[in-house]
Amino acid sequence: MNRLALRIGTALALAAGLAGTGVLAQQTKPARNFDAEIRTAVESAKTAAGFEFLGTLVRICLLPQSGGENTNDTLPDYVARPASAPARETWYAEPAKVFDDLYFVGGKIHSSWALTTSQGIILFDTIYPYNSEELIVGGMKRLGLNPGDIKYVLISHAHADHIGGAEMLQKRYGARIVMGGADWQSVEKYPNRYKTMAPKRDIVATDGMKITLGDTTVTIWETPGHTPGTLSYTFAVRDKGRPVNVAYSGGTAFNFVNNTPNPGIQNFQTYINSQRHMAEQAAATRATVILSNHSEFDSAVNKNRMLAGRGNGPHPFEVGADGVQRYFQVMQGCARAAQLRLEQQLAP
Ligand SMILES: [Zn+2]
Repeated sequence: MNRLALRIGTALALAAGLAGTGVLAQQTKPARNFDAEIRTAVESAKTAAGFEFLGTLVRICLLPQSGGENTNDTLPDYVARPASAPARETWYAEPAKVFDDLYFVGGKIHSSWALTTSQGIILFDTIYPYNSEELIVGGMKRLGLNPGDIKYVLISHAHADHIGGAEMLQKRYGARIVMGGADWQSVEKYPNRYKTMAPKRDIVATDGMKITLGDTTVTIWETPGHTPGTLSYTFAVRDKGRPVNVAYSGGTAFNFVNNTPNPGIQNFQTYINSQRHMAEQAAATRATVILSNHSEFDSAVNKNRMLAGRGNGPHPFEVGADGVQRYFQVMQGCARAAQLRLEQQLAP
């Protein structure tokens, strides 16, 4: 008998002995080690973040999250008393031409992007009511763009830092507003919260919907989670004539009910499924650029500065197809860790 056979023989004899005493029959699955599972999920997010996505990692893996959905319908302070709006130096950033046909007209923390086409402009997100005039309208003019050419405004989700300028752009320029169905409902449900920001109901986005203007098409992806109607996008831009594919992620923080297992576990699953869905679309379109509506997540303001000194070097927004996938792994890893903490609460 060789040594391995001997060991197997011993194990079988031991198992037979245990079965004889009924011990084996009573054995159940070992208890889950939630702490280890949580550590693994956080570790996967940390590894995926590398140096590029630390802002996202910190925001959703480390900082405390809001516990639930906002059901207040109160008038924001900066609408009630415009003088109380945050000081300009806390949000102002220079506008920038980032690709041949994509312009940054956002601020230090929140982004807005203008995509030029042969038939006008598609605008992504509109910041707050108190700074959309200077950053978007003013920024476009400084870059030589005509805000009157805005034909579509795509709102990633109905929070004041993204929908703030939508009413103004609809009224002033007749731009068509595109938003997820559930977020249109929020806007209609909370008239005070959205005062001065609420566009009249217009285009209700659906998964896979294409918005085509002239020679350019943006594809919309439903990515519920951050809000029930959160949207993300894929589209192509050009860098010195070369086509480059972009994935635009429309909602990041855990703003849904997540402080109790029910419905927190399911809400995290919705969020995780959305990130998988968007990662698949990014892979299918070979996206090498990840954009966000928050410059803290895609480092847009820093990258705009790097662009100025780019010369013939690589484009600072191009993180590669692998980098784009890693971005969505950060979101999934952090959400999974938070979901596991709720599962742990339910464990016996
Ligand atoms: Zn938001």
